[in-house]
Amino acid sequence: MLPDVPDDTRVRIEVGFAGVPAGQEALWSLGPGPHTTTTRAARHAYFAIGRFASATDTAQQLTLEARFAEGHFDVPAARRDLGKLLAAEAKIFAPDRPETLRVLVVPMPHDDDADDHGTSLTGSAILWMDGGLKWGEAQARLAAHEMFHLYLGQIIDRGGDEPDERTYWFSEGFTEHYTDVVMARAKVYDAQGWLEMLRLRVRRYHQHPQCETPNDKAEMRWGGAAIQLPYLRGSMVAAYVDAAMRRASGGKRSLDDLMRTLLGRARRHEAPLDSERMLGVIAAEAGKEVAATVRAVALGGQRLTLPKDAFGPCVVVTGEGDKQDVVAAPGVDLAKCFASL
Ligand SMILES: [Zn+2]
Repeated sequence: MLPDVPDDTRVRIEVGFAGVPAGQEALWSLGPGPHTTTTRAARHAYFAIGRFASATDTAQQLTLEARFAEGHFDVPAARRDLGKLLAAEAKIFAPDRPETLRVLVVPMPHDDDADDHGTSLTGSAILWMDGGLKWGEAQARLAAHEMFHLYLGQIIDRGGDEPDERTYWFSEGFTEHYTDVVMARAKVYDAQGWLEMLRLRVRRYHQHPQCETPNDKAEMRWGGAAIQLPYLRGSMVAAYVDAAMRRASGGKRSLDDLMRTLLGRARRHEAPLDSERMLGVIAAEAGKEVAATVRAVALGGQRLTLPKDAFGPCVVVTGEGDKQDVVAAPGVDLAKCFASL
């Protein structure tokens, strides 16, 4: 159907659906109307037809259009969470132009051994979730991860000459970090749920059998955020850079500023991010020493000992090396502190 041309070839494409049965809806990932995009985006598109419940929302210039296969999930609860996540994401990127994010939630047969999973495509995310479950924190967290990829991984593209998986430490790792940031700021987590997820990630990182394996030697077997090294290691790196930026600026700057720099860079169509360019941005935003540590950890496989304040003022990272853990900050009312995030 598509001409045999390189992935980055620009194409103008409009999809029409014929013969859709009454009462059913036909969808594709780029949405109605003509689009100027790349053949890569067209090749990675999804198409769906059926009866859907919809949830739409806007925050600043961001629009969310979600579709849920009818008869599954608690759509009002999902709508509430997705709207809050969208608003938190819009604040980070202070959108300078309208963007639409489409989310399609596909129910899967119940399977005790299968995890929910998702992927992000151009302007769009698709989530495969246990159709027997309603909607809760785990579902919202997966949605938050894939929604964040609208920016990091898509508009802020990775690439260059490096294979995709070599850049997962920032495309997936920073997305994992921000998944919990956005969930916390949106208050889709409660304080305890947030703390538990931080602890889980820190422990999984330090206990990962490949924790000290260099980036280009790490095995990229499929498994997603819970077990894949670049997700875990990259999320620790993101927290480390965030803490360094907050400390150096007396709280005036944070990783959010670096993300906005990356967005500006992408908007100006500068070369796609590879590891070296990302390290260059980190050096410019957070200093050469921070970038040198990130290089040693993210590329070289040095174990990162997180600073005490890696996750902000409400919690403290304790211990050294593989004994690191996260606890509520002593003398701080965790619920109250969390409410102010
Ligand atoms: Zn991802």
